[in-house]
Amino acid sequence: LPELPEVETIRRGLEPKVKDRTILRAEVRLAKQVEGLPVADFCRKMAGQKIVSVDRRGKFLLFGLGRGTLAIHLGMSGQVTYWDHARQDSPGFLVHRHTGLQKTPGQHAPDKHTHALFHLDQGDRIQYRDIRQFGLLRFLAPGELERWPSISRLGLEPLAKDYTFERFEALLERHKGGLKARLLAQHPVAGLGNIYADEALYLASLHPLKKIQALKEAERRALFEAIPLVLRKGIRNGGTTLMDFRGAEGEHGSNQNSLQVYGRAGENCYRCGAVLSKILVAQRTTVYCPRCQKKR
Ligand SMILES: [Zn+2]
Repeated sequence: LPELPEVETIRRGLEPKVKDRTILRAEVRLAKQVEGLPVADFCRKMAGQKIVSVDRRGKFLLFGLGRGTLAIHLGMSGQVTYWDHARQDSPGFLVHRHTGLQKTPGQHAPDKHTHALFHLDQGDRIQYRDIRQFGLLRFLAPGELERWPSISRLGLEPLAKDYTFERFEALLERHKGGLKARLLAQHPVAGLGNIYADEALYLASLHPLKKIQALKEAERRALFEAIPLVLRKGIRNGGTTLMDFRGAEGEHGSNQNSLQVYGRAGENCYRCGAVLSKILVAQRTTVYCPRCQKKR
């Protein structure tokens, strides 16, 4: 499931290829993935727009356009890749150890899961592919982005310069309840999903059900520091590819090979050797070390 490091990996891969180029034409093959506008209107808004920036907020990929913004959320399985007309990679399949038949890394021609295409000049394009179809594309007119609730309700951007302990604490104090559920709700910090929330709580030695109001100052600080660390590691590793995640050039990430707890229930804690436990938090499988992450 794409989280902040996966979206940032795509952003960094796309930016040098598409910035300052013009979307000649948009093509939407699955109407339900476009939110807020009828597809014909969405395509009309896109045509002729110059891409002036490729940004990210939380898990949203944001294309700054000459007039307005194109926001993309990858949902469960969205892929945003760049098609270079001059490059041909193997369109074949490989058998993935965990997930069975998968496309080989590399750029692939559109298939039945490719639901939107943004045609650039020379036959290059940006392709949106989404097997499970939970992602969304949305056009926001100038000035609308900041008012859009999906963006305005987000917590702090954990890799930004203004991510400070004072701001983190002030936002954290507004909430009660269990830590993991709070992180998944994108507040006080945006961009974490199931993988990086588990990894951050493990690194901070905090139980996923520990109550926010019970945190000591040292524990709040540990969480504040752990979040950007696990996210930066994910970005350095090009994201976590469990099933569908691909970078902008169709490449796999490698962060799945260095996860400490996510997906490791029943295996031993790398730090203390205890068997990692599994519980359900907010309907999400959650893995933690019962010895390193005590509830009290
Ligand atoms: Zn442990």
